[in-house]
Amino acid sequence: MAASAAMIKNVGGTEIKIRHRASCHCGAVVLELHLPEGIVDPRRCDCSMCRRRGAVVASVPLSGITIVQGEASLKLYQFNTKTAKHYFCSHCGIYTHHQRRSNPDQYGYNVGCLEGVNPFDLGSVPIKDGVNHPADRKA
Ligand SMILES: [Zn+2]
Repeated sequence: MAASAAMIKNVGGTEIKIRHRASCHCGAVVLELHLPEGIVDPRRCDCSMCRRRGAVVASVPLSGITIVQGEASLKLYQFNTKTAKHYFCSHCGIYTHHQRRSNPDQYGYNVGCLEGVNPFDLGSVPIKDGVNHPADRKA
C-alpha cells in the first residue's frame, strides 16, 4: 500500500469539487464523483490493459461514483479473471471507470475525464506494477 501523498485538491488551477463531474469525450456519459479528499492515489499501471489505455487512474469507493447520464451507453469489458469491470463509452470509446480487481470495493476512474482537469498538470505519477498483479500470485 503506497503512502498517501498530500491531498490533491487543485490541478492546474482547477479546484477539485467535493462532487466533481466527469464525462467521456462525446458527452454521452456523465458521472458525478464524490471526492471529499480530492484526487486520491493517482497512478499509471503497466498491466496489459492499462499500458494500452494509457490513462492516469485514481480511486474512489464504490459509493463514490454516480452515473448521472448515459448508463445505457456504457459498455463493460472484462478479461482474464473477469474480476475487474472496465467501463467505456460505446460511442467515443473513452474509458471512464472500472471496478478494481485488487480492491473490488473501489472504482478506479479516468482522471482525464474530470471536468477541467488536465492530468498532465499532475506531473509524474507513480506507476503501479500491474504485470505482477497480487491477484495473479498463486501459492
Ligand atoms: Zn462518449
